[in-house]
Amino acid sequence: MMPQKKILIVEDNDINREMLREKLSEQYQFKYDRLTGLYSKEFFYQKAQEILEQNPEKPYHIICSDIENFKLFNDLLGVAAGDQLLCEIAREGKDYIGDRGICGRLGADRLMCLCEGKPEYTEEMFRNFTNRINSLSVKENNVVIKWGIYEITDRTVPVEQMCDRAFLAAERMKGQYRKNFAYYDDELRSKLLREQAITEAMESALEKEQFAIYLQPKYSLDGETLAGAEALVRWNHPELGFISPGEFIPLFEKNGFIPQLDQYVWEKVCALLEAWKKKGYPVFPVAVNVSRADVYQIDIVDVLGKMVQKYHLSPANLHLEITESAYTENANQIIRTVDQLREHGFVIEMDDFGSGYSSLNMLNQMKLDILKLDMKFIQSEISKPLEQGILRFIVGLARWMNLSVVAEGVESREQLERLREIGCDYAQGDFLSRPMPVQEFEKLLEAQPVNAEAKPHKKVHDSLHRRCMIVVDEDAEYRKEVRRIFGGQFDVVEADDMRSTFSGIADNGSTISMMILSMTLPEQESFRILELLGESKEAWRIPVLATAPQGKGLPAIEEMALRKGADDFTWKPHAPFSLKKRVSRLLGLTTYRERERQLQDEACKDYLTEIYNRRGFHTALAAVRKEDLPVAIYVFDLDDLKKVNDNYGHDAGDLIIQSFGKILRSHTREGDILSRYGGDEFVVILKHIDSKEIALKKGEEICNAFHEWQVLEETKVACSAGIVLCGGEEKISAELIDRADQALYRAKETNKGGCCLWEDADVVHERNQKDFEGQ
Ligand code: C2E
Ligand code: CA
Ligand code: CA
Repeated sequence: MMPQKKILIVEDNDINREMLREKLSEQYQFKYDRLTGLYSKEFFYQKAQEILEQNPEKPYHIICSDIENFKLFNDLLGVAAGDQLLCEIAREGKDYIGDRGICGRLGADRLMCLCEGKPEYTEEMFRNFTNRINSLSVKENNVVIKWGIYEITDRTVPVEQMCDRAFLAAERMKGQYRKNFAYYDDELRSKLLREQAITEAMESALEKEQFAIYLQPKYSLDGETLAGAEALVRWNHPELGFISPGEFIPLFEKNGFIPQLDQYVWEKVCALLEAWKKKGYPVFPVAVNVSRADVYQIDIVDVLGKMVQKYHLSPANLHLEITESAYTENANQIIRTVDQLREHGFVIEMDDFGSGYSSLNMLNQMKLDILKLDMKFIQSEISKPLEQGILRFIVGLARWMNLSVVAEGVESREQLERLREIGCDYAQGDFLSRPMPVQEFEKLLEAQPVNAEAKPHKKVHDSLHRRCMIVVDEDAEYRKEVRRIFGGQFDVVEADDMRSTFSGIADNGSTISMMILSMTLPEQESFRILELLGESKEAWRIPVLATAPQGKGLPAIEEMALRKGADDFTWKPHAPFSLKKRVSRLLGLTTYRERERQLQDEACKDYLTEIYNRRGFHTALAAVRKEDLPVAIYVFDLDDLKKVNDNYGHDAGDLIIQSFGKILRSHTREGDILSRYGGDEFVVILKHIDSKEIALKKGEEICNAFHEWQVLEETKVACSAGIVLCGGEEKISAELIDRADQALYRAKETNKGGCCLWEDADVVHERNQKDFEGQ
């Protein structure tokens, strides 16, 4: 019996120990935050309450931290790095507070402390703290931390609420660069009260139609003619007075009301557009604002699709301005939605471009139509000399990506002229016209010349290697289907009547390779289009595939279409395969030679930059004539591109390569040979350069331009160059290129991010920024 009992006792002990451990661990979990080891939220509240009760005579305050763009930090550098950052802040914070208080984690990136004493903080203290955190970090980063402080005066307020108030104070500083901390004070308190009043009033305000639409005209910069408008909401509350959208929109975005207001605005705008059409005004596109919350909270594709249908509009009449910062959070969903909207034919404008964080990278991932430059961006750019600004570059980049550019917030003639010089397409701003009530805008419309053509915003700037197909059809579904079938092969331009057909042709010029034309457009316009095509100098060579629905009692239509000049005819519906076959036969008949040339070109082009690839370089080199000499040969190399690829992905790396190509183009002349020789190496031959000085200067100019272009500190890449001259009597040989390569290595060794000229044998002439400045 005895041994058995003994065993039982042992088991009992084990169970007890296990239970105790579980209990302890439960308690531990309740008490401590697993990641930082600070108190958990609940325990912090409980403990703080106790301390305050036990020490009624001592002064206390709550201080909390909030990391700016923490989510983005996680996305860019990884969750592990984010965790590490939090742990560092927790550790440093705890050290700082010592035994004067307690620290806890409220969740995510929010840490807080209850601290004894009256708060006596300075900006410098917080700056130092942040600097220490940034220097600790393994990965190079530049974290911004905001601090909120709540001084405890009334101890009946629950601790939870005290913390909320401290966080509100921290939140209020987001985006303010110089301020690192703020108190929860009367000003903030009254702001919150006002927010509360606005929140209480909003729903009935919408019912009572207190929100009014104002329109701010957009002008085309060639000729300063009207080009459209942006709808901006205004709220005049009978008691609260005029409330600025700058105040209520961010609040509605936070409290979830924005989709309701936005749908109201969109619908009003659609109704207006229809009314204008009926009145016979020229129809200019109107842009409406789309908030990030709209994309998440409602099926915006469906909502907008139904709206344009209800008001008999073409989606292209409605431009959608989506603010740039929307793209940084939950980017995938936005990208998907934007794609769908574009497929429907809506025109997408990226609003506030240049104000946010990762603008250039986003450009690479998003398909857009229009870039809308942020007004602050423009104001700061205008003060710089023309050649130093990056605006010029961005406009160039936009061109190359086939985007139009709208500048907003234009406030002076000087700004307007600068924008025109830079090549911006459209402008909006108080200098041109302030936002105005609808009736006033209608007067502008009435005053338009009779034939004022509301050209689509999307212009084509670079016809190089672009092929368009224009599909003219009254049925939006059919056009969509064509876009789906041929979207990869062509830029599909849609039109639904004669007017939009010819403005589509005018806009896309020689890039239109063919037309699919419905013979059943209203009012016999199909025949008129065929006639006009025949008469037009630009358009008569466009091959036309005519279509008509089968069994509509239209037996003669095929013959009529062909007689009027259509090149081929097919009945609807047709299988994608048969349509494809017809299209390629049509193209093959008429543009065989052109296509062959294009194919050849493509084999010589680098797909990313559209300058020559290695093969193209050698082909072009073979064509260099004696008259082109002397030349300077450059080998450029982008340093640390690999780092960008590793840290930010290949899209970011690709964008940098593309941009370098773009910079090369903008700093060289027609006829110079530009090539991406491989990876991040570019070989360039500039013709008629006979002095070392000029050769070096040009190299530095390109490196500097590239440096300047890179607005984002995080992804900055340096560029080095080796240069060799080839005189009037020499021949460009492999050996020469090799020398440029040697000079490049020398530049990298001694002068990273600069140029180096190969002279004789081993003598290498170096040049750096200082030498330049000394001149
Ligand atoms: P936003 O979309 O960037 O709109 C441009 C803002 O710049 C407008 O302010 C406009 O009045 C102002 N503005 C135009 N020209 C100039 C100028 O030359 N100088 C200066 N300093 N400002 C100029 P507003 O109307 O106060 O709107 C503020 C923001 O509120 C808008 O910025 C937009 O983000 C939002 N918003 C306005 N209406 C709506 C709406 O219906 N829906 C949504 N979701 N947001 C809206
Ligand atoms: Ca806007
Ligand atoms: Ca804007």
